[in-house]
Amino acid sequence: MFVRSCSLSSWSAAGAALVARAPANSPPLSSSPASTPPKPGPRSMASSSAGAGAGRVCVAVVGDVHDDWILDEDTKALHFLKPDLVLFTGDYGNENVQLVKSISDLQFPKAAILGNHDCWRTHQFSEKKVDRVRLQLESLGEQHVGYKCLDFPSIKLSVVGGRPFSCGGDRLFRPKLLSKRLIKRAPGSIMQMKPASSRYGVDDMAGSARKIYDAAAGAPEEHSVILLAHNGPTGLGSRMDDICGRDWVAGAGDHGDPDLEQAISDLQSETGVSIPLVVFGHMHKSLAYGGGLRKMIAFGTNRTIYLNGAVVPRVKQAKDSSPAVSFTSERDGLEGLGSMAPTSRAFTTVDFFDGAVDKISEVWVLVSDSGAELEEETILYKRPREHM
Ligand SMILES: [Zn+2]
Repeated sequence: MFVRSCSLSSWSAAGAALVARAPANSPPLSSSPASTPPKPGPRSMASSSAGAGAGRVCVAVVGDVHDDWILDEDTKALHFLKPDLVLFTGDYGNENVQLVKSISDLQFPKAAILGNHDCWRTHQFSEKKVDRVRLQLESLGEQHVGYKCLDFPSIKLSVVGGRPFSCGGDRLFRPKLLSKRLIKRAPGSIMQMKPASSRYGVDDMAGSARKIYDAAAGAPEEHSVILLAHNGPTGLGSRMDDICGRDWVAGAGDHGDPDLEQAISDLQSETGVSIPLVVFGHMHKSLAYGGGLRKMIAFGTNRTIYLNGAVVPRVKQAKDSSPAVSFTSERDGLEGLGSMAPTSRAFTTVDFFDGAVDKISEVWVLVSDSGAELEEETILYKRPREHM
């Protein structure tokens, strides 16, 4: 099937300035418990035209990577797709610091969030050594949007992150990475207490929902907001093949994040924030035990579209090619590794027009030494033509 690359934007990626703007309550990278700020007042409901005037904008989603990322190859593919913004849904590897560093080196405007696999072994920030969660966060810097708002003024979009490290379901995953509880300074010492090395100050789902809400409510009025989370919200179905459906137990169930649903619901009912798109991964497209394929798109109220980008594995050896060079996860993401066998690489592209989603496609880009070309496109959504 033939398609164009998403190249209709009138401006170049090189000019995509971003403004990192954590809300006032967002803790800095160095640990310090956050105080709870007053809830922002509702902004004008008249701002429903958020994003209007931005023209055509293309966003490329890189779903759960799971070690399938090579900077050179994916850069070739992205130069072909020409997105204005690249979003990463997390699970880069199992704390694959080197790979996350290579993603941070990608020369496109971007935003990312860490998933449950990105804290595979680390349960809390270390007091004594630099742990691998910290290294990943430091690599991504302001582009890690967990509980933060990252503004892209030239395309009138803000990306707001959900709860980092999510594993889905109704319990916080890795609560010590999220919390503000006190911990013992040293084993056996009951007197030496100090704040845990927490970046987020979140202890429960309600507090998490509030952090997401606050970050989104602080977006500029003229911007549309994309919510970027590792896992999607509850409320989108409980069948195995639903967008966040549990696929590893016979009874299925809704495995969404309740805090994300709460935040979206509150934002829609209390503010004028325009949320045309909620992007996430975690629940893979291919269902467990060969159970078929997951629905990767869902439609909510207020014209919000929910998109699961977790096409896993996202890299395949190209048809009719010689065997691919084998890389270990330690070497994934390194540049200059020489000639590569052609690969097909998955992205999900989202075209916006004046702040509203116009088209969504799963695309596979064939990348070889000679360049990149479109191999396949599956259109997941196309906005109906409205009567004039
Ligand atoms: Zn995950």
